[in-house]
Amino acid sequence: MTQTDPLVEIRGLNKYFGSNHVLRDIDFSVARGEVVCVIGPSGSGKSTLLRCVNLLETPQSGTVKVNEQELTDPDCDIDAARRQIGMVFQQFNLFPHHSALDNCTLALTTVLKKKRDEAERIARENLERVGLAEKVDAYPARLSGGQQQRVAIARALSMDPALMLFDEPTSALDPELVGEVLTVMRRLADEGMTMIVVTHEIAFAREVADRVVFMDGGGIVEQGKPSTLLSEPREPRTRDFLKRVL
Ligand code: ADP
Ligand code: MG
Repeated sequence: MTQTDPLVEIRGLNKYFGSNHVLRDIDFSVARGEVVCVIGPSGSGKSTLLRCVNLLETPQSGTVKVNEQELTDPDCDIDAARRQIGMVFQQFNLFPHHSALDNCTLALTTVLKKKRDEAERIARENLERVGLAEKVDAYPARLSGGQQQRVAIARALSMDPALMLFDEPTSALDPELVGEVLTVMRRLADEGMTMIVVTHEIAFAREVADRVVFMDGGGIVEQGKPSTLLSEPREPRTRDFLKRVL
């Protein structure tokens, strides 16, 4: 393994739900430290592609490799492989009856078998990283949506992932809370985290992404630098989409 190998390498990926062919022969790689934003209309397959990266969805064909481990290999230890992939969803999916701190320590103590004080140290560090040092003891119901989403990010970071996946992390938030979450994500990107972000926040993609991928109809229609793809798209479908969202 060399540091220049892609962190994520997907080849010939096909996914069907029944007769619905939702991912069509996708080839998709992400370099270490790269930030990729995935945009596209509803139903184009963005979430399914993201969920195939950690095999939350099983593709019918193709290979998914993350950090030199082939998740689609039947012999792959899928739980171990998934541990290096953090995922943040539109709905924060926090454990409602656990404090912010315990939301972050839970997997550390149960899955990684860390000692309680070590788990707490890691959890506090990551809650601080997302600007929530003051809220360690708060329960999700007492936190704003933006704060809950930041806890979800801290929880994912606590596992020390090699890759972070975000599926529309700000879509469920009131507009005034979107900024605080994007700020945390921007900081993560600056720190060199490898990230795949499905988002409708075109301004964020323009500013933070190294590459923007436009999906439509289960395929990657066009991809490139944000300055190029978002300002001078080649494909009519990309142009139409951008006209509608910008
Ligand atoms: P996007 O995230 O771009 O909106 P999705 O990946 O969620 O798109 O969906 C792509 C297609 O797959 C859609 O036609 C959707 O209805 C279908 N689909 C997604 N998840 C499921 C599922 N669990 N079962 C059946 N069909 C699904
Ligand atoms: Mg989606």
